[in-house]
Amino acid sequence: MQPQASFRKRLGITLLMLLGLCATLAITYWYHLEQGFARIQPLANRQLTEVINFIDGALIRYESIPHVLSTNPMLASALAHSDNSDEIRHINRYFEEIQHVTEASDIYLLNNQGEAIAASNWQKPYSFIGQNYAFRPYYTEAIAGRLGSYYAVGTSSDTRGFYFSYPIVEKGKVLGIIVVKVDIADIEEQLTGLAKAGQYELAISGNDQVIFLASMASWRLKSLMPLTSAAQDAIYQSRRYANRIITALSIKPPYNSLNDAERSLYHISHDDGHEQFLDTKGSMSKAGWDVHVLTPVKPLYTSLPLTMLLSASVYMLLALGLSFSLERRKNMRRMQQAHNLLELRVKERTQELESANTKLQETQEELIQAAKLTVIGSLSASINHEINQPLAALRSYAQNTQTLLQRDMQDKAKENLSTIISLSDRLAEIVAQFKSFTRKSEGQDKANSLNDTLGEALTIVNPEIEKQRISLHLELPDQPVRFFGDKVRLQQVLVNIISNAVVAMQQVDTRLLTISVTLSDKLQIQIRDSGPGVNESQMEKIFEPYFTTSQRQGLGLGLSISRRIIESMNGTITVTNAAEGGAEFVILLPLCPGE
Ligand code: ADP
Repeated sequence: MQPQASFRKRLGITLLMLLGLCATLAITYWYHLEQGFARIQPLANRQLTEVINFIDGALIRYESIPHVLSTNPMLASALAHSDNSDEIRHINRYFEEIQHVTEASDIYLLNNQGEAIAASNWQKPYSFIGQNYAFRPYYTEAIAGRLGSYYAVGTSSDTRGFYFSYPIVEKGKVLGIIVVKVDIADIEEQLTGLAKAGQYELAISGNDQVIFLASMASWRLKSLMPLTSAAQDAIYQSRRYANRIITALSIKPPYNSLNDAERSLYHISHDDGHEQFLDTKGSMSKAGWDVHVLTPVKPLYTSLPLTMLLSASVYMLLALGLSFSLERRKNMRRMQQAHNLLELRVKERTQELESANTKLQETQEELIQAAKLTVIGSLSASINHEINQPLAALRSYAQNTQTLLQRDMQDKAKENLSTIISLSDRLAEIVAQFKSFTRKSEGQDKANSLNDTLGEALTIVNPEIEKQRISLHLELPDQPVRFFGDKVRLQQVLVNIISNAVVAMQQVDTRLLTISVTLSDKLQIQIRDSGPGVNESQMEKIFEPYFTTSQRQGLGLGLSISRRIIESMNGTITVTNAAEGGAEFVILLPLCPGE
């Protein structure tokens, strides 16, 4: 691949991996928060129910007290004789006692003008006695003959409280009102403990969106959203929060600006800065309150980096593993291709080698043939003589037979004809030997008679042996000997060695050629001449191709080809110089199987 293309591919893969990483991080972020909210929402719902039940339980204890007290005739009497200080004192003490027992904050009696004429706090500096509460809705409700309930900051006590009121009726006429005030601070303290234990914050707001009760001190008597000046005015006029000007809490996004599908998540400022909360809201319709359980979401974000790191690591591991296995598969495919190519090359090369080998074999065959013909060439003079002699004899016998037939000497002529026949047989035999020697090998190994092969080789070299007046000494075992191999080839080896010996002995007067065959664990053919022997420095060289000292047309191939032939028959051929002079060639061949 081009380096630029490879770079582009790598860049593409890296970008893809980065894209995958970003997607993994985004999914992890989303999934982690979804899971977190799915975990905290049901808990927040449970906490909300718990809070509502707690407040309900707390208020219900006080709700019936004014009704019960209103039935006391003492109150109607006191209202009828409000100038009777004894009676009022008596009521005050009575209220004080009831206040102690019920743990209510204050209990007081209003006349039908809304003025407090008796109160449990008659001795306190902020005593309600003499104050007019006709502006309070609990007065309006009760004077109309109904149970009144209201929450507000006391104008005298400046404490937040919940008020229950009931009319005191005599003969169908409302004489006055009995009011029980419950201090919110106690309930708030208990609720704050509950919230801290549940690790959430709590706020209770009214219809005017002002927080009346909260676990966080800085949230108390603050509005959830900025109030319009009309709303501010109305609140001020009602004196629900005494003379306070209500300011808004800092909430982002603005409270109630989220649509229903969105999760109610708000950043709300508090004592230590601001924090994000999940707002779970429930309403207490009787009291006209909204209860908010505000769960901090910070813990969800605290564990987020670790989760993202973990998922990024898993992603990277998987991505790297995938790319590694893809790369590995690609490499394996490449290796397989290289392997196939190599196999193809090896196949081609083997074919080339095979055809080169065939050619080499053919060339070798031709070389062997050439060497053979060289020997024949060197022997040609004596072969000529060998053939010419019987030919000349044949001719003279034939002429002689003609004369005998003219003289009608039938018997003598018949004798001559028999001689002619045997002479021509001899000629045919000689020619057959040469024909057999010069033909190419059949290339088939089999068991052959060594006696016959040696005899045929001698037939070829015999004319030269005789011409050179060499005495031939043959030492053969009594029984016929066989060898395993190609007959023509061994014949060629023997002709080579014997004709070399004949050449060598031309330089000496005593010419003796000894050929001995012995059998032991191997078949041994020993050919010894009485020539000058082989120069010691050339003992191994004479087996190398083209080494020759011959003056005739020797190619220097005879012995190298002979060694190759013998080695192909699993045998050896060596030369030494005999102690009495002359070269001694020893051929060792394996015994013919079965011998
Ligand atoms: P060529 O006969 O063509 O020279 P050969 O390979 O048959 O080739 O022989 C190589 C050489 O070995 C001969 O030239 C000769 O020097 C030496 N040689 C072979 N036989 C004999 C021997 N019987 N006596 C001495 N030298 C020999």
